[in-house]
Amino acid sequence: MAYHADAVMLWCFDARFSVALDSLIKKKKLKMPDIIKVAGGAKDIKHPYLLSQIEKSFRLHHPKEIYLMVHEKCGAYGGRAYDQKKELARSGKILESFLKKKGIRAKIHKVFERLPR
Ligand SMILES: [Zn+2]
Repeated sequence: MAYHADAVMLWCFDARFSVALDSLIKKKKLKMPDIIKVAGGAKDIKHPYLLSQIEKSFRLHHPKEIYLMVHEKCGAYGGRAYDQKKELARSGKILESFLKKKGIRAKIHKVFERLPR
């Protein structure tokens, strides 16, 4: 049975950020979000597998929003520091052009998470 998802969320699989994901879903009152959890979150968005997952979410559940997440001290970056704003801008641009090509309209939200203190 198809259902409607309010959003699709690309999140890092790092379990320390599961609470932040749950809080964001609650705060934004997102119903039935499609959650794609992979190492690095939005880091490898240009990978065809990730883009196809996002496309499937749109085809099956017609979300209106996408959340792209990266976080500090992410193991997927090999522990090196990176510019989170640049990373989110880069992944947002890749996603934007992919959606445009596919004729999908959605609002892109960029999320940077800090480690829980
Ligand atoms: Zn991570």
